[in-house]
Amino acid sequence: MYRKIVWPNNKKFAFTIFDDTDRSNLKDSQLIYDCLDNLGYKTTRSVWINKSNTQNSTEGITCDDKLYIDWLLEIKKKGFEIGYHNTTCNSSEREVIKDGLEKFKKTFGKIPIVMANHSQNKENIYWGSHRLSGSRRLAYNILTLFRKNKYYLGHDKNSKFFWGDLCKENISYVRNFVFSDINTLKNCPFMPYKDITKPYVNYWFASSEGNNVNTFTKCISDKNQDRLEQEGGACIMYTHFADGFSENGKISEKFKEQMTKLSKRDGWFVTVSTLLEFLKTENKNTEINSDQRRALEWKWLFNKLILGST
Ligand SMILES: [Zn+2]
Repeated sequence: MYRKIVWPNNKKFAFTIFDDTDRSNLKDSQLIYDCLDNLGYKTTRSVWINKSNTQNSTEGITCDDKLYIDWLLEIKKKGFEIGYHNTTCNSSEREVIKDGLEKFKKTFGKIPIVMANHSQNKENIYWGSHRLSGSRRLAYNILTLFRKNKYYLGHDKNSKFFWGDLCKENISYVRNFVFSDINTLKNCPFMPYKDITKPYVNYWFASSEGNNVNTFTKCISDKNQDRLEQEGGACIMYTHFADGFSENGKISEKFKEQMTKLSKRDGWFVTVSTLLEFLKTENKNTEINSDQRRALEWKWLFNKLILGST
């Protein structure tokens, strides 16, 4: 099943980006967002609320930095969205998460809040093998030697990392499956969707793989842009803008070139939650059934095994 969408203002397709905050610094972030702004994009930038109390190589700038908050509020005013990437780059227990969410809402506003789990955090919600169900979970556990079976505990009521109820109360959209195809909606036509096996998440969304500058520019190649437009699809790129997009004060030429080409097409360039809110109103049935869940999980497992998608 493929949903053909009539996009607002008769746009031919939709495109946005979820930027995972890992390893980012203020200077390079400013360069990238100036570039996006100049090209007319409105995308989603995720943040960490607090500095971690340990040495962690994935850590970048956090909302403990006043200059950073000023800049985030500036880009928010321009139409960019601020998303949540857990409280900090390390695992946080319930009370810390609770405070972090309050600080987030106070600084950036209330729902909709869009988030992605940070892969190393124990409080991740339905992560590791819990992204899957039935035989897919077993297959995943065997492939990962059961390492990711009991590590993630955000949905486990008996754990000190439990925050499922807070997630339900505060977060509108959580990212799950990532596919290598540019047309995210074609791979996950139900999004944003509810999954009865994961009750603490209001709605899930999928993404397209753009982990670093190489995979990102490959995914938005000329050929793929043509197809996204022809199919009238929607793309939510998932990326780390700190990974090769801007180095030594210079934006990647390839990135700039592909994003410039895309910006000249007649696309709907909005933030992740604007796109998902729109799709939600278009969606007659937001809860996936077991056949749809099974198909989606197998497709992602296949993508992960063959292509290494996140
Ligand atoms: Zn991350």
